Amino acid sequence: MTAKTPVNIILLGPPGAGKGTQAARLVEERNMVQLSTGDMLRAAKDSGTEMGNRVAEVMARGELVTDEIVIGLIEEQLTTVNADGFIFDGFPRTLAQADALGELLEKTGQSLDAVIEMQVNDEVLVSRILNRAAEAVAAGGTARADDNEESLKLRLMEYYKKTSPLIGYYHAKGKLQSIDGLGQIDEVAVSIGDIVAKATEA
Ligand code: AMP
Repeated sequence: MTAKTPVNIILLGPPGAGKGTQAARLVEERNMVQLSTGDMLRAAKDSGTEMGNRVAEVMARGELVTDEIVIGLIEEQLTTVNADGFIFDGFPRTLAQADALGELLEKTGQSLDAVIEMQVNDEVLVSRILNRAAEAVAAGGTARADDNEESLKLRLMEYYKKTSPLIGYYHAKGKLQSIDGLGQIDEVAVSIGDIVAKATEA
C-alpha cells in the first residue's frame, strides 16, 4: 500500500454549522487530526491555566480571543504533531489568523488543500445550538457557557464581521469550496469526503 499524501483542510462556517461533528467523522474515517482552537481553549479553561482563566470570560460572552493566543496554540500543534492531515476547525477566524496559518504551513513544509465553507442559515444555527445546550443538560451535564441566546447573538456577529471575510480571501486563493451544510449529517459528510478524496488524488 502506498502512503497517502496528507491533506490539510479548513472547515469554515458560523457557530452551529456542524464543523465539530464533521471533523469528528474525518478523524474516525480518515485518521486525520482535528485542531479545534475552541476545544483547546476550553481545555485550558478547565485545567485552570493562567491563559485559560484569562480567556474564560471573553469566550462566555461570545467574543473572539486574541489572535496571538490562538496562533500560538496552532503553532504548537503544527510543529509537534505528525498527522495524516489536519482539519482546522474554528481556526482561522480572522484575516490575521489566516495569514499566520499560511506562514506556519509554509514554514513546516505543509500545504493547505481545501477550505470547505459550510453554508447554513441563521435560524437553523440558533435552534441547533439551543438544542445542543438543552441536550447537554438533559444528559445530566452542563451546557457550554456560550451556548445561550445572548452569547450566540454575539458569536454570530463576530462571525459575520471578522470571519466571513475569509470566504473572499480563500476564494481569491483558489482554495474555497462551498457546500450545503443543511442536510443530514451523513449527506454533509459525503460532500466533504468527496472534496477530501479529490484533494488526496491531486
Ligand atoms: P468554538 O468551539 O469554535 O465555537 O469556539 C468557542 C469560543 O472560543 C469562540 O466563541 C471564541 O471565544 C473562542 N475561539 C475559538 N477559536 C477561536 C479563534 N480561532 N479565534 C478567536 N477566538 C476563538
